[in-house]
Order: sequence, then C-alpha cells, then structure tokens
Amino acid sequence: MKAVLQDLSGEELLSLAEEWGLPRYRAGQIARAAARGARLSEFFELPAALREKLLCRFEDEPVRIREVLSAADGTEKYLFSLADGGVVEGVLMRYKYGNTQCVSTQVGCRMNCAFCASGLGGLVRDLSAGEILAQVLVVNARAGATPAKRAVTNLVLMGSGEPLDNYENVVKFLRLVTAENGLNISARNISLSTCGIVPKMYALAEEGLPVNLTVSLHAVTDAERARTMPVAKAYKIADILKACSYYFEKTGRRYIFEYALIEGENADEAHAEALAALLKGRPCHVNLIRLNEVKERGLRGTSEKAAYRFLGVLEKRGVSATLRRRTGAEIGGACGQLRAARLAEQKGEENPSRGE
Ligand code: SAH
Repeated sequence: MKAVLQDLSGEELLSLAEEWGLPRYRAGQIARAAARGARLSEFFELPAALREKLLCRFEDEPVRIREVLSAADGTEKYLFSLADGGVVEGVLMRYKYGNTQCVSTQVGCRMNCAFCASGLGGLVRDLSAGEILAQVLVVNARAGATPAKRAVTNLVLMGSGEPLDNYENVVKFLRLVTAENGLNISARNISLSTCGIVPKMYALAEEGLPVNLTVSLHAVTDAERARTMPVAKAYKIADILKACSYYFEKTGRRYIFEYALIEGENADEAHAEALAALLKGRPCHVNLIRLNEVKERGLRGTSEKAAYRFLGVLEKRGVSATLRRRTGAEIGGACGQLRAARLAEQKGEENPSRGE
C-alpha cells in the first residue's frame, strides 16, 4: 500500500511542499482538494505533473464507497473498500439538528463481544488516522457538502473496531477532523465509544479534546459482564467508573453508558435496579439499546415492553436514560453486520448475518 495523503496534517503538508520545492500555497490547495472528498487523480486544481508525483507516493482513493444500503428513515449504510482490499462499514443517520456519521476505527475487532458482529473474524488491522478521516470526507461529499457547509455535522466512533485499541491513530484523526483548516467539527459533536480500556480512558482525558465519552457497559457486575464482554476480565466496572469520573473532572463532559438489553442476560428488573444503584448521582446518561440480533451470536433482544419497563426503573431512581430510537435496523444497522454478510458471501455461504 502507498501512503495515505489524508494522514497528513496542515503542517505536514507544508513540510511536504517544502521537501518538493513547491510554493506554500500548494499545500493549501492540496488540503482543500482532499477536504472536498475527491480522489487524488481528480485534484484538477493542481498541475498534472504535481498530481502524478502525488499519485506515485499516495493512494488515489484510500477509502471508496463500495456499496450503499438505504433505509426508509433516510439512514444510509456504507460498505467501504480500503486500498489493500480491507472492508469496513459506516452509517449516516439524519436528524433534525444535523447528520451523524458512524465511523470505523479498525478492520474487524479483537474484543470479541458476544453480541457483536465486528469481532466475528478477529482484528485484521488498525486504520490509520487518514483512513478514518477519509470515511468522513467521502460521505460528507456524497451527502452534498459544499466548501462553505459540511453535510456531516456529528460523528460517533461506533463502527467496527475499538477506538482505544487504536489510540494513536484515533487521537490523530480527532485532531485532523476538529482542525480549523480541516472539517472543523467540534469535539463536542463527536462521541467516542469504548468497551472500557481504562488506562486509555485516562490518557484521553489529558488530550485536550473534549469529545463525549461513551462506555459500553451492558452488565451490572464484573462476572456478568465477562460472560458477554471478554475485556471485562481485564478491567473492572469500578475502575471504569473511576476513569469516567476523572474524564468528567478534566473535560467537564457528562459521560454516557451504552446498555444493550439482552434477553435472559442483563434485562430483568433486578438488573435495572442494580444499574440505577451503580450510577445514581453520577453526571451520566444511559442509552438503552435494543439488541440488533446477529445470527452467529445467538443472543436475543428483549421485547419493547420489557425495554420500557427497564427504562421506567432507571427514571424512577433518578438516573437519566433514554431508549435509543432504532435507525436503519432493516439494513443491518449494528456494527459489522454488513461486512460480515459480504465476507460470508465471498466465501460462498448464504448471507447469515442479517439480524432482522
Ligand atoms: N468498540 C467500541 C465501539 C463500537 S460498538 C465499543 O465497544 O463501544 C458501538 C456500540 O454498539 C457499542 O455499545 C456496542 O456494544 C454496541 N453493539 C455492538 N453490537 C451490537 C448489536 N448487535 N446490537 C446492539 N448494539 C450493539
């Protein structure tokens, strides 16, 4: 694989211009062309010779939209091809206040949570900062962005991969995407979701990037959590909560817990009471998620009625919570489902991964 141009910050582009003996304004031209989401061979504002020289060193199209699935509610799901043939997926959800894109941070994932499709084939590799950024650039362009107005206004790092297991690249991506001369998306409009890699949660608190921290909790005791999330053997819930408090102290940002309701596993009234006791008085919010059932995983979600009952307990106990609206469930909205389905098809099996 060649290098990825989108990995370069404004300063790095300036050094490249200097190294190649180009006037400084070329760095700005290249940055603006990349921000447009164009492929390198379409950077027509550059002289052809410079374009050719760039193409010798950098990938023409590090991230390409290979497939789009659209849902009735306007949600779009993308399958992206990477330059080495790797595949990741993403989603664009349309809301009144703007468009939220869900991006992937790794090809596959090594966390192997029992409900999740992303970990089915293990971790293939980390994405570079520029590969994460390029997902946003191409979707932003597709969704009708102009140089004056971005179309993607909010980001969630909830696609395939564990962001804090690819820490350096993810932090660099956050710096690139929030840069004033980049897409300039405010850190406050970005949510990073983690399964709870405690030391990296502390590190993130020190970065001066006040993104919203979201933790996938999905259980109320360490023993129960370890049944669905192997990472629970490494990090205890009590230590995750301490790291969240530290994050709040440092950034002033309220944190969020994701809790997917799984039938017979974590969704009884007793679990709701225990969750309320665990979180009471904390500056946090709970997102209850209806499980997107992944066939290979064999776990079932709760009924809608049970989900509302669970929510009612949290509310009664004074814990801020919402039951997340399901967007795009019919297009395999959950992490890794589309990729798993396509990889299975490539192996000649029938599509096994559609939840609903
Ligand atoms: N690795 C990160 C981010 C990716 S997953 C993390 O663990 O947070 C984004 C969210 O979707 C997580 O809360 C994850 O637990 C949840 N999730 C994964 N598979 C799901 C499924 N099949 N149904 C519902 N939520 C799921």
